[in-house]
Amino acid sequence: MSDFPIIIPLCVGVFPKFEVSSFLYGRHQGKKEDFPCIMFVIKAGTHTIVVDTGPYDEEKATKLHVPLKRPQEMEPVQALKSIGVDSDEVDLVILSHLHWDHCGNCKMFKNATFLVQKDELQYAVAPNPVQQTQYDLGFEGVQPSWMEVLDQIQTVDGDVDDVVKGVHLVKLPGHTPGLMGVAVETQKGVHVIASDCIPLNVNWLGDAKQKHIPNGIHINLEDFQYSFEKLERIANVVLASHDFETLKHKQYPVLDE
Ligand SMILES: [Zn+2]
Repeated sequence: MSDFPIIIPLCVGVFPKFEVSSFLYGRHQGKKEDFPCIMFVIKAGTHTIVVDTGPYDEEKATKLHVPLKRPQEMEPVQALKSIGVDSDEVDLVILSHLHWDHCGNCKMFKNATFLVQKDELQYAVAPNPVQQTQYDLGFEGVQPSWMEVLDQIQTVDGDVDDVVKGVHLVKLPGHTPGLMGVAVETQKGVHVIASDCIPLNVNWLGDAKQKHIPNGIHINLEDFQYSFEKLERIANVVLASHDFETLKHKQYPVLDE
């Protein structure tokens, strides 16, 4: 048993036939593919940390946004149970940003403190109208999910080292103003849960035209570039937020390769 933290990715929903260019700026317009929504669990010492809580239920998601499939085994309670985690024992939830598909299901973490960047929380209240639906604003009778745990939210401002030993918060703006990733010092290098800064592995790996490809959904491409450069400096491994590849391993680091 090592003292190093481990990361476990859990599939908590699938967007069927989702527009690929939404994730890949300027590429594959009109092409549709299935993409997962991933909740990450970090086990570090005595702490159980959740990074992003995934989308809410199929019916609401499909009505307000895009079709979502979430069979029983992908229900967050079930997904956590499959790795022996009870939501009551989660003491920390890190919300990478406040888009609807990353902060549903918050209420189930009754004993957790929620961490979010201060400028992300501020922005989520009054975003650019073009992107307000991403924050669940502008729908009659709908409240953003994070509001359900407002009294459990603590804001952070910028990078924070060792929020738990070996687990660091790193700001990666671009997709949203206050997006943050989580850098985890594992037994095999620094793994960064990059959230929607890197939705797919190809965003990070790039193509013939660009070293890294921004998310098609973004608020600021200058910031995005800054975040890519920051990832280059700090990450040994980058974990994508909506890529089935991320789910190919039951946990990180991958030790037997
Ligand atoms: Zn997002």
